[in-house]
This record gives sequence, structure tokens and C-alpha cells, in this order.
Amino acid sequence: MLADADRIFTNLYGFQPWNLDAARKRGDWADTAALMANGPDAIIDAIKASGLRGRGGAGFPTGMKWSFMPKTPKPGRQSYLVINADESEPGSCKDREIIRHDPHKLIEGALIAGFAMRASAAYIYIRGEYVREAEVLFAAVQEAYDAGLIGRNAAGSGYDFDVFVHRGAGAYICGEETAMLESLEGKKGQPRLKPPFPAGAGLYGNPTTVNNVESIAVAPTILRRGAAWFAGIGRPKNEGTKLFQISGHVNRPCVVEDAMSVPFRELIETHCGGIRGGWENLLAVIPGGSSVPLVPAHQIVDCPMDFDALKDLKSGLGTAAVIVMDKSTDVVAAIARLSYFYKHESCGQCTPCREGTGWMWRVMERLVTGEAEYHEIDLLLEVTTEVEGHTICALGDAAAWPIQGLMRHFRPEVEARIAKRKGFVQVPAMMEAAE
Ligand code: SF4
Repeated sequence: MLADADRIFTNLYGFQPWNLDAARKRGDWADTAALMANGPDAIIDAIKASGLRGRGGAGFPTGMKWSFMPKTPKPGRQSYLVINADESEPGSCKDREIIRHDPHKLIEGALIAGFAMRASAAYIYIRGEYVREAEVLFAAVQEAYDAGLIGRNAAGSGYDFDVFVHRGAGAYICGEETAMLESLEGKKGQPRLKPPFPAGAGLYGNPTTVNNVESIAVAPTILRRGAAWFAGIGRPKNEGTKLFQISGHVNRPCVVEDAMSVPFRELIETHCGGIRGGWENLLAVIPGGSSVPLVPAHQIVDCPMDFDALKDLKSGLGTAAVIVMDKSTDVVAAIARLSYFYKHESCGQCTPCREGTGWMWRVMERLVTGEAEYHEIDLLLEVTTEVEGHTICALGDAAAWPIQGLMRHFRPEVEARIAKRKGFVQVPAMMEAAE
């Protein structure tokens, strides 16, 4: 369990005010100019050494991502940092806690990260539904401007840096980095083909890096406390602290900062008061937000909650949005509901996703009631593999993976429903089916 002294987000629950005075008392903006005086390359090296991996889901090494930005921008061209605060993945709710209770960590991080990447400005793209969070963010940015912490000669560093807040309009796909850039440019939020990657041609055609809120907000503390401190938490290649968002059938759902690689059982017992109805009542867990495959109870209970351990279980840490399902869950209906979500949020740009998500959802709906044929399970799985990896962006994968996870672990349950519908056999109990 993470020691209190190692927590980065010391106002996660809003027990103190979010404003600049309170943020300064928590240590934010203390020595920003001195941190920047080390120079962009030293900052990037420190972030690399800390082992920080992107907190938005993909887990790409943050320092390496920053190093892709041009060291000497071409004349007349600027570089940009875009901060992804769209947070639309079902189950994810951590960035909102940072923004409404600790926004200065994000703004200071934007300055330092932007400086390290030689960017002239940061754009924070916040989802439209986060109305109160956006109000706090606008006010905090204004506070930072008024105090000279951003703008001309930001924080007395001699570096000019602007921060803009942009509110989205509610489309899930705008959380995809290139769709976000399109949306920022005032166009329809649809993902771009890559390459070119944003570091080469991003916002307004200029070099751009898109980072998650948590990835940026932890950067100042890493620099202050040292890369070795951060790298000393968690398992190798899975270092640092992490905001876990635990929802569903636990006794006390919460957002909490803990060490990366904390075992699932410890995470739930320590912060959530255990599983509703006890551990024997646990059915399955979606460990990283709705797009990652579910993991059955017996596999997850002792699993370290990090990128690599969950990948070994053919799932993923994603945003660490942990959705817990007990045995009262109709797991087939739950996955069918996710299929509907991805069908609804497909931008329609590429055929496998536009047609495939709707097709998969319709089959899933029939599997919920058993009104399907046995061979359709294999057909459905085949279609998921035709969608996965064959689309412009990862939404196609996100639609395919939950279904693959369901069939990997609960296929007997799906088959039993068809059998019952046909009047062949009794439906076995859910857990018997899962084992
Ligand atoms: Fe749009 Fe889906 Fe293609 Fe992504 S995969 S670009 S959401 S149609």
C-alpha cells in the first residue's frame, strides 16, 4: 500500500480549497523556474528515468513521447502540447478529480512539459459534460495568469507559455488524439490516418504531443522528488503511483491513489471495504475501462494491477478504471450494453467499424436472450478479428475486445442460453459456466 508521504494528489477529495493559495501550501508552483532552469533535455531525461508511462490507457513511456518533439522548431512554426481531459471511457473518472480539486498541479505540469517539448502553448480539451470542472479549470488558469505563472515570462522562467481551455461537445471519439486535434481546429471530430503522427504534423499542422491529464499533473512532483523516488514505487516497467477508479459491486466505490502493481485484493480490501457479498460473490472484473476484456474472478484476485500483469491476462490496465461485477450481474447483457456504446460512438468513417460495431451489437443482443444459433458465436468472434486492427483508430479494437473477453471466459454461459431457448438443457449456474 502506498505510504501517505508518497501521495502526489494530496487534495484528491477536495478537503482543502483548489485555489492557488491552497495549492502553493501543498507545494505546487514552489520552485518552478528552478526546475525549468535545468533545461528541456534534463526534464525529459528525468521523466524517462522515472519510468512514467502514459496514464491515458496506452501506457506508452511519457518521456520518450516528449522526446519525439523537434528540438529546434522550424522558423514560423510553433509546437503545441494538447492535454486530453475528455475522459469519456465508461468507468473512468480520475481526471475530473484532479481538475476540480487540484487544477494547479495540471497547469504547472503543462508549463513544465510544454517547456520540455519547446511548445508555445497548451490546449486542455475538457469534455463538455464536465461543466463544474471546466468552471474550476477556467478560474485556475486565470489565477495562474494573474500571478504571472503562465503567459509572458511564465513563473519568472524567462519562457513564454499560454494555456487555453477548450470544452468538447460530448463525442467519445474526441478522446482519440487525432480526433481531438480535428475538434480543436473546429472540424468534425474524426480520427486522422497516421502517419503523419502528431509529433510531426499535429494541431494546425504543427508538431504536437497529446498527453493525458494525470501524466502531465504528476510531472512537477516527479521532478521535485526525483526520478528515483517515482521509479522506486511499483514493479519494474510499471513504476509510480496511479489513480485507480473503482466502481461497481464493491462496498465503497472510490477514486484512490495507490502504488502501481498493488494486488487487486489489497486494492479492494484497503480502499473499498471488500466485494459486495464477500469474495466468493465476485464474478469478473473489467480492470481498465470498458474497452479492455474482462477477467474472471479466479484470475484477478491476486493479480498485480499494472500494465504488464494485466496484459499477461489478455486484458489491460487502460486508465485503471476498475469495474467490479458480482454474481448478480448478467455478464452477457453487460457486454452487450458496451457493444451498444461503441456502435453509438463510432464516427462512421471506416467501414469495418461503422458496419461491424452495429452488427456485433445486434448479435450480442440476441445472445443475451439466446435467440441465436451456436455457429453465430464463432461467426461473431471472427467478425471481431476482422474489425480489430483494421480501422483508422482504436475504437474498432475497443468494440471487439469486450466480446472476445466474454467468449474467452463465459462462452458456456452464452451457449447455455441458446440451449435453453431451444429447450435442450438447463442453464447452468453462472460460476459453473465460468470455470
Ligand atoms: Fe471512426 Fe470507428 Fe474508424 Fe475510429 S475506427 S475512425 S471511430 S469509424
